Amino acid sequence: MRLQGKIALLTGAGSGIGRKTAELFAKEGATVIVNDIDEAKGKETAQSIQASGGNALFLHADVTDAASVRLMVESAIQAYGRIDILFNNAGISGVGAIHEIEPEAWDRVVRVNLRGVFLPSRYVLPYMMERKSGNIINMSSCIAEIGLARRASYSATKGAVLSLTKSMQVDYAKYNIRVNAILPGTILTPFVEQYLQSAYEDPEAAIAAIRTRQLSGNLGRPEDVANGVLFLASDESSFMMGSPLYIDGGVVFGKDA
Ligand code: NAP
Repeated sequence: MRLQGKIALLTGAGSGIGRKTAELFAKEGATVIVNDIDEAKGKETAQSIQASGGNALFLHADVTDAASVRLMVESAIQAYGRIDILFNNAGISGVGAIHEIEPEAWDRVVRVNLRGVFLPSRYVLPYMMERKSGNIINMSSCIAEIGLARRASYSATKGAVLSLTKSMQVDYAKYNIRVNAILPGTILTPFVEQYLQSAYEDPEAAIAAIRTRQLSGNLGRPEDVANGVLFLASDESSFMMGSPLYIDGGVVFGKDA
């Protein structure tokens, strides 16, 4: 019960890493506010938590839309009076080198992956500041640290999220608010399955190539990342501030040849 009594808001928690993290947070005693743009998937996460005896509430919002995010935060505050933990997880992939990317596609990736971290933080922070207590975890990626082929828009946003995390930490340390980033390697989720299908002629060969890229020899699982997010969300990481936590099967710091 490492999050006993905590109120946690997780964006994009209808699928993949967000869903696993929501389930783990609930098991550890948190009341979980599940956000997603996809109502059916978000409700499914909340219902699976409730079915296992946990506390969960689904709140629909598009994290790129200020009015929608503001309403979500106000509804959460109305329901529980505070938000202790914010996991800015919602994100989308972006494939292509610069010359291959349509401007609208670039803007969409930036909106979801960067504005989608700014807006929930923008509306949750005043409540955390008032209570002089809070914990924010931003979803970056190990791609923030390495060059990877044809991921220009995605890597630009995830690098920005890492920089933003450090900047936020400095601004809000005086309010006893911690802000850290999580940097996963390739984790097998619907998100990765989808970009493998859309970006490669031979998705099987692509998976094989990704396996060799990781020292672990395999892709990560959503629960591998959820465990790291739990650590950042709990008091066990209380001396971590503005830091990246890598959960990447050795992609960033390892080289086999
Ligand atoms: P996922 O399975 O696709 O889950 C992401 C969820 O966010 C989806 O349910 C998605 O809904 C939702 N979402 C998208 N746009 C949204 C919006 N505007 N407002 C609210 N929710 C929105 O992906 P995942 O693999 O778990 O990824 C979660 C996060 O981890 C992302 O930020 C991703 O960049 C990051 N990450 C993933 C990996 C990986 O290998 N999987 C590695 C590093 C970092 P829709 O399905 O309807 O779009």
